[in-house]
Amino acid sequence: MKNILMLATGGTIACEPSEDGLVPRLSGETMLQYLGGAGLPCRVEVRELMNLDSSNLQPEDWKTMAGAVADACDEYDGFVITHGTDTMAYTAAALHQMLKNLPRPVIITGSQLPFTAEGSDGPRNLRDAFFVACEGVPGVFVTFHGAVIDGARAKKMHTESFAAYASVNAPLARITPDGVLWKERRPLPDGPLELLTGLECRVCVLKLVPGTSPALLDMMVEAGYRGIIIEGFGAGGVPNDSRGSFLPSIRRAVEKGVVIVCASQCVFDGVDLSRYPIGVLAARLGAVSGGDKTVETLTVRLMQALYYCGSAEDVRAFMESPV
Ligand code: ASP
Repeated sequence: MKNILMLATGGTIACEPSEDGLVPRLSGETMLQYLGGAGLPCRVEVRELMNLDSSNLQPEDWKTMAGAVADACDEYDGFVITHGTDTMAYTAAALHQMLKNLPRPVIITGSQLPFTAEGSDGPRNLRDAFFVACEGVPGVFVTFHGAVIDGARAKKMHTESFAAYASVNAPLARITPDGVLWKERRPLPDGPLELLTGLECRVCVLKLVPGTSPALLDMMVEAGYRGIIIEGFGAGGVPNDSRGSFLPSIRRAVEKGVVIVCASQCVFDGVDLSRYPIGVLAARLGAVSGGDKTVETLTVRLMQALYYCGSAEDVRAFMESPV
């Protein structure tokens, strides 16, 4: 029988009602007891890492989770992390990036309703997570409502529907009574596990609306941000006409060594800066294409790129390399 380590971090799955709304209070051990060991395909040990609403998570908490996995990697066959759904996509992207050459499955799950609430999706999602962990496919995955999503591709699409998570620009695997129907599997790593927890956190996202003042970009640079993701329109475009061109601000930012990444407000298909002048001109000034990656993945990668890469060329190559 496989040995799985469950790392509990909070979220709605661990919540109980309070005067101020739902508060994460249940321990991982309690959830496991409610679930009942019978019928699980594995032995489970639990570590309580934190008990937070995931909106309160900080990048240092990703490091704690990645470190807990790396430290115990030789002792367990896989890991299940219970987590709030609100920032689960960021954590999944972070663990995917931080645990290079991960030889074990790390399955992140949570729920839209508290574990003990009537009709909760928590028990099913947690049980599914253990089954997926026992499949032994290495990598970080989000398991939610019967779907198995690559950690670098997950995105929360619904605030209430049980089918909360989508797989962005990558095939989704499904959990069936006969096991997981994988569409694509990452190859087994050929090097040793590396823990890459260095992050430059002075990274932010500027979401454009028609009429956004380019002065906002200058203000972010003045505030000390080292990487700025512009969530532009369609294929990644930013306004370039005289009534509000972003080009001078992008030029100033790049000249100061700030990395500008063009992302899209569209969830699917990704960025193509070569299609219109609104992309071509920004790219010519040094803006980096976000490609088909989610904003969550771009955020974590940009934090890593700014920490580990020595030159603007290295940052670009890292940002544009496949996830
Ligand atoms: N606010 C909760 C959290 O992210 C929502 C959830 O878990 O569904 O922790």
